[in-house]
Parts: sequence; C-alpha cells; structure tokens
Amino acid sequence: MKQSPMATEKESTYSERQSWPPYTYRDYADIAPETYKEFMEFLSTENTSNRIMEMQPWVSFCDSKCTFCYYPNNPYSSAQMGLYLEALKKELLMYAETKYIKTSEFDEISLGGGTPSLMTKEQMFDLIGFCEEHFTLSDEYYIKISGSSRSLSKEKLVAAAEYGVYQIDMGAQTFDDKLRKMLNLPDSAEHVKDEIRFAKKLGLCVCIDVMYNIPGQTLESWIDTVKTAIELDVEVDAYCLNVDPETVLYRQLQAGKVPPQPDPEVEKKMYVAAYDLFTAAGYRPIGHDRYSRVQWHAEEKCLNGWPWAGILTAGAGCFMGYFQKFSYSNLDLANGYIDSVKEGRFPIAKLSKSTDRDMMRKFMTKLYLRLPVDKFEFKEKFGVLPEDVYPEQLSKLIEKGLIQLDEKEIRLTAVGDLWKANIAWEFAENK
Ligand code: SF4
Repeated sequence: MKQSPMATEKESTYSERQSWPPYTYRDYADIAPETYKEFMEFLSTENTSNRIMEMQPWVSFCDSKCTFCYYPNNPYSSAQMGLYLEALKKELLMYAETKYIKTSEFDEISLGGGTPSLMTKEQMFDLIGFCEEHFTLSDEYYIKISGSSRSLSKEKLVAAAEYGVYQIDMGAQTFDDKLRKMLNLPDSAEHVKDEIRFAKKLGLCVCIDVMYNIPGQTLESWIDTVKTAIELDVEVDAYCLNVDPETVLYRQLQAGKVPPQPDPEVEKKMYVAAYDLFTAAGYRPIGHDRYSRVQWHAEEKCLNGWPWAGILTAGAGCFMGYFQKFSYSNLDLANGYIDSVKEGRFPIAKLSKSTDRDMMRKFMTKLYLRLPVDKFEFKEKFGVLPEDVYPEQLSKLIEKGLIQLDEKEIRLTAVGDLWKANIAWEFAENK
C-alpha cells in the first residue's frame, strides 16, 4: 500500500495535534436579550444567500449512556417521547413560520440526537412527514436517520427503505468487543455488522462513526476496525476520541479504572493508517472526518456552502444550528425544552452572532472541511483577498508545507490533512 506523505512528515510541525476546530458550539455565548432580539429580526428577513440548507431535528433520548458521550441526551422514556415530539414539531413550526425559513430551501432532513431510532416507526415517519409538509424541499432531497444498531430493528430498517430514506447513520465506534464493553456499547460487533449488512441489502446507504484514540486501543485494533468498515462498504466518519471532562470515561481515566489513551505518536499513526487504508480502497476524504466512495457526497450543498448555507436544528440539546452569522444551541433537558416551547419561546440556550471579521475566519475553516478557499469568493464577500488579511498565517503554513496557494485558491496539502484543525486555529482569534 502506498504511504501518504503524512507518514514521513516532520514531528515538529506542531507540538500537539488538534482535532477540534474553533467556532464550534463550545464557543457560543450564553443567550443575551439583545442577541435574541437581533436573531428574531434576522428571522423576519428574506434568505438571500442562494444556498441550500439542511434540517436536523434532534431526538435527544438514549436508552443507555456510552461512557465517552458528552452529548446532552435524556434517558429514554416512551411516555416522555410523545410529549417531546409534540414540542419538537411545535419548535419546527415556529421556524417554518418565519420569513427567513419560508424563503429557504432544504435538500436534507437528517434525524439526529440522541438516538432517533428509539422512536416507533410511526413516530419516525410522522416527524419526517411533518418536515416534508412544512418546509420547502429541493426537487431531490435526502432523508437520513441516525440510530443505534440495537434500536434500529429490521422492521424499522425495512420501513425506512420503503419510505425512501437515503441513509442510516450508525454509531458503530469500534468492532473490538473488548473496547465496546469498556465504552458501554451494549451489543456485540457481530450484531452491528449484521445490522449494517441488512440495511445495505435493502439498498440503504450506511454511514458509521468509528473512533480512534480510545483508552487501551492498539494500532492493530484500530486497523481491524478500519478494514472491517471497508469490507462492509460503508461511508465512515473516523473520529479522534477527545475525552470530555464531563464524561464517565474521563472519571474512569482519572481513577485509573481503564487503561490510558494511546500516546500522541500512536494517535497520529492511527490517523495516517486510516487515511492510507481508506484512500487505497477507493475512498475519498471529505468534510472534516469522513471517508466516502460516493463521488457526489463530496459535493453536498450544505457542506460546500459553509459558512453561508445554514443548518436548521431543533430539539433538546441540539447544537449544530446556524443561519449565516447566527449560531445556536438549545436547552439540554427535555423537560425544560418542552416547557420553553409550550410557552412559545425558541428554546435556545446559547446564541452567538459573528462579526464580519469572524465570518472571514470561518471562511478560512473551509480548509478544516477539506474544501478549497476560493480567493475570489472571499474577495467578493469581504472586499479583500485572504493574503491581505492573513499574510503571516499563510506564509507560515506554506513554509510548513501544510497549504498551497495559487492565483485562484488555497488548498490543504497531503501533509496538511493531518493538521487541518491546527490550521483552522491559525486563523482564530485568541488562539
Ligand atoms: S448513543 Fe450516541 S448520543 Fe447516545 S449515549 Fe451513545 S454516543 Fe451518546
């Protein structure tokens, strides 16, 4: 197998490899009355971005807690699910009635969370049907459902295929049963594989999350997981596990109850091994962590429209929402969320408004998404070229061999792929 240039690059490029970029929900400000007012005013304007958006209704319940999980989910209760879904539809309707959303087009309905597959199939298709009825969808749009291999029963998968669902997103995480047990993933690797094979036989596209940098994970175990994903012929989001201090796993690590995480050099080797194995098997690296064999997935409109396109997200704890300059996340707890919606308020917990300068920086994070920075688009939006705003950062990155710049665009180099989050931080404020 051909080795990527990343395998031989200088160890000293950065002292530490980042795996998160700036401007994620972690950086949003707590909601302030003035920003909320501006947000409401913005929602009463027309969407003139000419970009296609994505919709992400979140079902924030799980029936067990993975030890690494930092998502603000709620313990599953069938009684609460009904009330929650009513509130979710009400929140979606509040957005649907704004001028901004009435003048927006969506090409994707993606049920996220949490574990949306905990809904009954009737609840699932009622929610999707609600989105289809109340929002303007492109002539060709895609429905995706996230779920766990345990709750995506064969019956639900058959119903999903019959309904016309395009993709099933599954948090496989690892095919190493020892690690699965440690992470409190309740079913076996064999069961996950069975579910994937079954979904694929039905003609569904399957995308799985897998993680490296798990405590006690060896390079060999990670390579086995990557090879299994390739054999299963699925799309893959290959994440580096960052252990959040709020998680059970963090406490277990602190108490020495689980083995340590791989050292940074092994973690880097894991990234490179996955890159090499996937690309040798005909996968293309797209977005921040995805490997895909489907060409058009690299052309997804919402991804390519960053940072202008927009994601309408709704539901307790959702945190991926953004409309141009506004980014938001919702209240975490199902009860507080339901109460807020009942009172007719958008259940937002954090809301940030970017300045023009922030938007320039966000534009540069296209590099993190493995997208080129189109210099003329930058100039059209901001009146200046990236070289005028970031001369030192660009020179430094060129010198390190991490980016290439020509008269049209700025791109990551092959080595730059390994350091794409560090590169994004170079353009951030207060880095
Ligand atoms: S299924 Fe997903 S959202 Fe639920 S606990 Fe596990 S990682 Fe978190």
